[in-house]
Amino acid sequence: MTDKNQSPKHMSLEEFRSAGYETIDWLVDYMADIEKRPISAKVSPGDIKNILPKSVPEHGETYSKILGDMQKTIVPGLTLWQHPGFYGYFAANSSPPAILADLLSTGLGVQGMLWATGPSVTELEIHVLDLIIDLCGLPKKFRSTGTGGGVIQDSASSATLCAVIAARKRAGGNKVIKRLRAYISTQAHSSVEKDLLIVGLVPNQIRKVKTNSDQSMSTQDLEELINEDLSLGLIPFFVVGTVGTTSSGAIDDVKRISHIASKADAWVHVDAAWAGSAAVCPEYRYLLDGLDLVDSYVFNPHKWLLTNFDCSVFFVADSKPLTEALSIVPEYLKNSASETGEVVDYRDWQVPLGRRFRSLKLWFVLRSYGVQGLRAYIRQHIEAATYFEKEIEKFKNLTLATPRSLSLVCFRHVESNKKSEILLKQLNSTGKVLLTHTIIDGMYIIRVAVGGTYTTKLHLRQLVTLIKEYVN
Ligand code: PLP
Repeated sequence: MTDKNQSPKHMSLEEFRSAGYETIDWLVDYMADIEKRPISAKVSPGDIKNILPKSVPEHGETYSKILGDMQKTIVPGLTLWQHPGFYGYFAANSSPPAILADLLSTGLGVQGMLWATGPSVTELEIHVLDLIIDLCGLPKKFRSTGTGGGVIQDSASSATLCAVIAARKRAGGNKVIKRLRAYISTQAHSSVEKDLLIVGLVPNQIRKVKTNSDQSMSTQDLEELINEDLSLGLIPFFVVGTVGTTSSGAIDDVKRISHIASKADAWVHVDAAWAGSAAVCPEYRYLLDGLDLVDSYVFNPHKWLLTNFDCSVFFVADSKPLTEALSIVPEYLKNSASETGEVVDYRDWQVPLGRRFRSLKLWFVLRSYGVQGLRAYIRQHIEAATYFEKEIEKFKNLTLATPRSLSLVCFRHVESNKKSEILLKQLNSTGKVLLTHTIIDGMYIIRVAVGGTYTTKLHLRQLVTLIKEYVN
């Protein structure tokens, strides 16, 4: 028997409609009940893989069966990032308008690599990024109407990689690569170091700048390192300032960093992956003071601005070094629109060629929540974190490890790292919350990153009650 002459069996459009309703129904029930589920999976390595069917079925199965199996086998092995008791890492926001827009994007199935392959994909992205500039009070030089512009990347890691690639180009490219030096603080995100290694730097070309007592970059150390390297004939080409470090939410002095970097004409990139969303509120824009002096900037609406992963917004003051570094035009991609020079071809703004229609979900979020809704969202989290910070101060056995940064609270047990570690394990073992840790200056610190889509002060109250139960 051979299947050679059989044509593939697609879902009919009516079956697709009904499966779509079934899927949304399932998702709505899941979201409505999420707080009743344990936030961390109680599984061991291999448990999930072992219960999965061992081969591809010979004949296609019904959608209901596949969905049912997912519920039975996959869901129990998930960590519930959308649970309101999720305080680990930084949040990975999701919201109904963004979910639906992502579904539309997938359903439309378009590729926005060139303007010509989907004019609306490119033009909506340009438009949405200009809207983000207004929404967050970002410098005008990032607007599409000047030499700069914005692009949506899959992650802050990729955006920073593009910044490094553009900076390397501006500094002279591969010809001078051995003389290039980059400057990042010891608290910069690990992705920055990874990006620098990807472009061909070796570890001793990455200068680790010391931090101040509040974990922000020591600009004095930065200046000394840059001066030293200049005197050795080296090329300081890239400096990263972080607004809201991952460990403790420290804020680097972007203005001072930019002034120092300008003496060496080094590219300044600001990574505000998490904290950048707070700029929707005018009262937090001071954190980005000096942004008008930098070359590139990234923040992640997929962390704290209600837009499902993946959505990192990346802005450059001058797009030329980026597109010059990333543009290669094979015959099969040539088209008359590109040749006019009047359109943006986003494939030249990123590493991959193909690109999803990501701006749709951000556009839906901006329109669904509006300026006031987005501000209320950020403020509600910061208010909840402020409440939590005050509660921590009341515990005689606990202390704040660093001052609260926006909605991130870091605390520890006063007696020992071991006691902090045990407390963290006990809290997580309840299945009601998920917290993560960091180590700063040898101290084990519990991080509470408030930022879940449905996390409110009520959930922080519940966390305080849990802590009271376990701390000793
Ligand atoms: N930069 C900072 C400051 C972060 O906190 C993170 C992730 O938490 C990243 C970069 C990496 O983000 P992404 O996962 O979008 O690459």
